[in-house]
Amino acid sequence: MTKGKVSGVVSNMVTLCVDGPVMQGEICYITTGGDRLMAEVIKVVGSDVYVQVFESTRGLKVGSEAEFTGHQLEIQLGPGMLSKNYDGLQNDLDKMDGVFLRRGQYTEPLDAERLWDFEPIVKAGDRVENSAWLGKVVENFQPLKIMAPFNMEGTAVVKSIVPAGQYRIHDTIAVLTTESGEDISVDMVQRWPVKFAMTNYKEKPRPFKLLETGVRTIDTFNPIVEGGTGFIPGPFGTGKTVLQHAISKQAEADIVILAACGERANEVVEIFTEFPELVDPHTGRKLMERTIIIANTSNMPVAAREASVYTAMTMAEYYRSMGLRVLLMADSTSRWAQALREMSNRMEELPGPDAFPMDLGALVANFYGRAGYVYLNNGEVGSVTFLGTVSPAGGNLKEPVTENTKKVARCFYALEQDRADKKRYPAVNPIDSYSKYLEYPEFAEYIKGHINDEWIPKILRLKNRMQRGKEIAEQINILGDDGVPVEYHITFWKSEIIDFVILQQDAFDEVDAVTPLERQEEILNLVTAICDKDDYKFDSFSDVIDYFKKMINLCKQMNYSEYKSEQYYDFKKQVEAML
Ligand code: ADP
Ligand code: MG
Repeated sequence: MTKGKVSGVVSNMVTLCVDGPVMQGEICYITTGGDRLMAEVIKVVGSDVYVQVFESTRGLKVGSEAEFTGHQLEIQLGPGMLSKNYDGLQNDLDKMDGVFLRRGQYTEPLDAERLWDFEPIVKAGDRVENSAWLGKVVENFQPLKIMAPFNMEGTAVVKSIVPAGQYRIHDTIAVLTTESGEDISVDMVQRWPVKFAMTNYKEKPRPFKLLETGVRTIDTFNPIVEGGTGFIPGPFGTGKTVLQHAISKQAEADIVILAACGERANEVVEIFTEFPELVDPHTGRKLMERTIIIANTSNMPVAAREASVYTAMTMAEYYRSMGLRVLLMADSTSRWAQALREMSNRMEELPGPDAFPMDLGALVANFYGRAGYVYLNNGEVGSVTFLGTVSPAGGNLKEPVTENTKKVARCFYALEQDRADKKRYPAVNPIDSYSKYLEYPEFAEYIKGHINDEWIPKILRLKNRMQRGKEIAEQINILGDDGVPVEYHITFWKSEIIDFVILQQDAFDEVDAVTPLERQEEILNLVTAICDKDDYKFDSFSDVIDYFKKMINLCKQMNYSEYKSEQYYDFKKQVEAML
């Protein structure tokens, strides 16, 4: 292996003089004092190599020795990752005292001693390709697959496979004979370089399957799909975390992966304490059983922060290869972009807008592009749905991270300070937010088959009404209540009905917090009926206000009542009587 000597240190950027070949992105370890510091190659110029050290370089001396590993930043994938808290380099955070590792301390990500109940899927003589399902184990009630090596070329024949029984992750469970006649032993662990997309599937069609989240402003108004992408920009305190918790809890996903990158340390600690408390409303079990948290805070070194979203995405792709539905959330991707900026500035690259790297757009696009709904080689399907928050400084949606994300993410849920101040939760702006999936013919086809063909046109009409309501609110603001015709007030209050009854939803009320799709359909129909009625007769604007306030109240009572309970029908009847 190539060796090197430190020739310069600028903060976490270290220059090395090397004696052999080095690859871009390669991992090396620099020895200083008693510590071994992990670093990643970011630039190679002749025998000068620039590396980014993943931790503090305090005390690092010129002349210190480095050893290269021949591989890029990679993680281990296998049973035993669920309900773990990792950092961006896959160190197990539960194995340490306190939240953070000492310098030079790395931990094993997987438990090598634990026994797993393994059951074979293939038999000797079967022909398999990379990522083929060889057997299964169950972890926290999730059915996991043990797969043929991801990087195997061509096909191989199963020479032997162990019978059902208990095995450890490093036990050989199968021997495969490759096309070149070489035998390879397969255990339950795979390694994968995190910055490379896993492409071990047959096809990645445009996603089309509605992913139910139980959050009305999403499912009804701006739906996300299985394998889709979305982003949630919002200033501090506008409800990003509450919304992410609601989605993680309720969305139809087998596995939830949360990349908590670079927010303040106490916010990350908050995740560690709050997330384990969340209960899955579908099963009544702890959500954490099928969750992995990847955490970094802004006081961690920049390269570790940069790595965390890739680590999380690689884990998501791993579970997708097993035919599972994965929900991946990153909070916030702005911190990741800031890590990219710090690195590029230290390398004295020519900066792009706001000093972010020139290729920020490509980096963001590549990352979002790894999400998706896929047909695996064996005909099964799997998905990675990705939702990232963005915390734009000062709520400025014109900054580079937001703009570049907007180009690639298909759903946009803009959390707005003004709505949060008015306690209109979730504070997703109904006019600026969108879901591009509403325009996909594949999606329309799916909705036709699973809900009905009126659903999307109805939503589009209500969206128009929101826009119209906003315009009228501005006119009333300028001209005064008496300055506009009564009809204008009616139009405005119709948009308020949509807002209060469909869009606003109390995340802390047991019933209102989750609205199943069937119930959303009923609310949509009711609100549409209220809005479509065009023979309202009112003498004055104050009558309009009285009428609609009463209506909103009744509908909200409905939302708070157990679905199809006596109380629910009682309120519904009162609403219908007013029509
Ligand atoms: P952020 O993560 O953007 O800083 P939070 O998610 O912590 O903001 O939300 C801040 C506060 O807003 C919450 O503590 C809660 O009181 C309120 N809130 C946000 N969303 C909702 C909601 N859907 N229902 C009720 N309250 C909400
Ligand atoms: Mg938050």
